[in-house]
Amino acid sequence: MASIPAPRFDPAFRIVTAGNPSPHTLDGTNTYLVGHRRVIVIDPGPNEPAHVSAVLDRVKADGAEIALVLVTHSHADHLGAAAALVRTFPVPVRRWGAGPAPLTDGETVGEGGEALRVVHTPGHADDHVVFYWHAARLLFSGDLILGSGTVVLQARDGALEDYLASLERVRRLDPAVIAPGHGPLIDDPAVRITDYLAHRRLREQQVLDALADGARTPGEIVGVIYKNLDPALHPAAENTVRAHLFKLVREGRARREGNRYHRPWQRTESDRAQRSTADGGENDGGANDGAAGDRPAGPADRNRR
Ligand SMILES: [Zn+2]
Repeated sequence: MASIPAPRFDPAFRIVTAGNPSPHTLDGTNTYLVGHRRVIVIDPGPNEPAHVSAVLDRVKADGAEIALVLVTHSHADHLGAAAALVRTFPVPVRRWGAGPAPLTDGETVGEGGEALRVVHTPGHADDHVVFYWHAARLLFSGDLILGSGTVVLQARDGALEDYLASLERVRRLDPAVIAPGHGPLIDDPAVRITDYLAHRRLREQQVLDALADGARTPGEIVGVIYKNLDPALHPAAENTVRAHLFKLVREGRARREGNRYHRPWQRTESDRAQRSTADGGENDGGANDGAAGDRPAGPADRNRR
């Protein structure tokens, strides 16, 4: 293998981790400083005075000044401190889809050895971008890829497909190191990205299996497939499950009725209502449960109510 640069020891690369640990932010948000005298700040972090001071102190201790603030996405734990930083160093804050100079896909920001390429990577957030530091082969991944665990997806149609495409895009960059928005640096990016893609396929199968076993709502599915989940993360996990369900419905592998989901071969509430009308009110005794077509001989078609 080619020798891997060690950006963590490069004086042009510093990390200031914010004091906002939580189930969502792991050890806290990582704010990265790139450059020697004129520093690019990547993800200002949460708007907490102690963190703002820590970032400014670090810049000043290095005899440097902030030249530019970049933001991977507009969630408060990444963007929050931007306004406070630019009160001290009045420089542009650049992010996707907002401000006087929104970032564009493929754009290069910074110069020389600190040039960074902007790559739009939706899935966790519509406005999510990553920054690829070519000279160091280092990817600032924001919340696209985390130092540990996996990422929460938006609960919208297309978020999962966007997220998978975003992972494929950063895989093609072939980074040597990933500097995530939360958690430790990642020294084996190719392995991690492969793991992330495999994890999404696993989740998809788990969602399909949960539906087959009778889970109907996103909340019920979370209850089945996320083991030992911190309750604080339940709504986020539900969003991720919804992103999976959108994809499965689009692919014809699941059906939706309001907030309830089924496999295509499972009968829904309205199927039963129609049938009982057509049958003159005959009750749903289950004798016709197999009539819906390509139902596999797998899990029982249990009806929860
Ligand atoms: Zn975050």
